Amino acid sequence: MYPSWQAELADSFTQPRTLLQSLALDPADFPGLDAAALDFPFRVTRCYAARMEPGNPDDPLLRQVLPLGAELREYPGFLADPVGDLAAVAAPGLLHKYRGRVLLIATGACAIHCRYCFRREFPYEDNLLGRSREQAALDHIAGDASIREVILSGGDPLVLGDERLERLVAALEAIPQVRRLRLHSRLPVVLPSRVTGALLRHLADSRLRTVLVIHANHAREFDGAVGAALLALRGAGVTLLNQAVLLRGINDSADALAELGETLFAHGVLPYYLHLLDRARGTAHFEVDEARAMALLRELRATLPGYLVPKLVREIEGEAFKRPVA
Ligand SMILES: *Cc1c(COP(=O)(O)O)cnc(C)c1O
Ligand code: SF4
Repeated sequence: MYPSWQAELADSFTQPRTLLQSLALDPADFPGLDAAALDFPFRVTRCYAARMEPGNPDDPLLRQVLPLGAELREYPGFLADPVGDLAAVAAPGLLHKYRGRVLLIATGACAIHCRYCFRREFPYEDNLLGRSREQAALDHIAGDASIREVILSGGDPLVLGDERLERLVAALEAIPQVRRLRLHSRLPVVLPSRVTGALLRHLADSRLRTVLVIHANHAREFDGAVGAALLALRGAGVTLLNQAVLLRGINDSADALAELGETLFAHGVLPYYLHLLDRARGTAHFEVDEARAMALLRELRATLPGYLVPKLVREIEGEAFKRPVA
C-alpha cells in the first residue's frame, strides 16, 4: 500500500529491463529495447504491470508499453503530427477542431506511456495549458458562444493534482455557455487509486455534466480495483465511455473486441470509439488495415448488442468530425 496515488505513481517502472525481469522475460529477446526507450521514454505503473501474464512476451498489456526496435524504422506517411493537432491550436494549450467542443492540453504527463500514442512527439513545452497561459484559453472559450463542452486531455489530465483540477473546473463553470466537462483519462484503468474521495466529491458537485472517457484496449486491463474506481465514478454521476485503438497483435480479433465490450459494460462503461491507428512516427507495426478493421466490425455486430459495438473511426486532418469507417 502507498500513502497516496502520487507516491504510487512515482514508484512506476521506468526501465523496461526491470519490468521484463519481473515478468520472467529476458531483455535480450527484445532487440532495440533501450534505443526505442530513448526515443520515447518507457513508463508503466506497477498495478497495471501486475495484470500482465508472467512469461508471455505477447501479453496484450505488455505489448502496449514495451519499446521495440520496430519503432525506430521510418515509414512513409507516419508523421510527428499525424492528425493536424498543431493546425488546430487556437490558444496555447487549447485545440479547437470541432464545433462546440474544445480540447485543453492540461498536462503533458501520463501515468503510462503507450507505444502507439499519436502524441508521442507532441511539442508539449510550447502547447501546454500551464497556469500562466490559462487565461488566454479561458478567454477563447468565454468569447465563443458556440462552445458547449470542454475536454480535458493531455497527456493525462488526472495526473494533475486535485487543487489544480478544481481551480480549472471552477474557471470553466464560470463560463455560462459551457455545459459539459469531458475528461479523457487512462488513470481509472492504469492507476485506479487516483479516483479519490475528494475527486469524486468534486465531480459530483460540479454544475457541469461530466463525461469520463477511459481508454482501455483489452479486457485484461480490468481488475477489482479498476472496477471499484469505475463504480465510484458512476456513483458520482459521471457518464463513462471508452475509447480504444485497434492495435495489431493486441486487440485485432473479434473475440478480443467482444470480450472488451462485455467487460466494459460489466463495469458500467459504454464503448464509444474504436480508432484506426493515427499514423504517428514509430507506430507502423501496430497498424491494422481498413479492410480488416471493417471485417472485424462486421463480426462484432453479429456477436454483440448494437450498444456494445463501438464506432469505428479515423481522424483526418481538416475534417469536421472523426470520420466513420463505413
Ligand atoms: C477527438 C477530439 C474531440 C472530440 O471529438 P468527439 O467526436 O466529440 O469525441 C474534440 N477536439 C479534438 C481536438 C479532438 O481531437
Ligand atoms: S495515456 Fe494517452 S496521451 Fe498518454 S501515452 Fe497513452 S495514449 Fe498517449
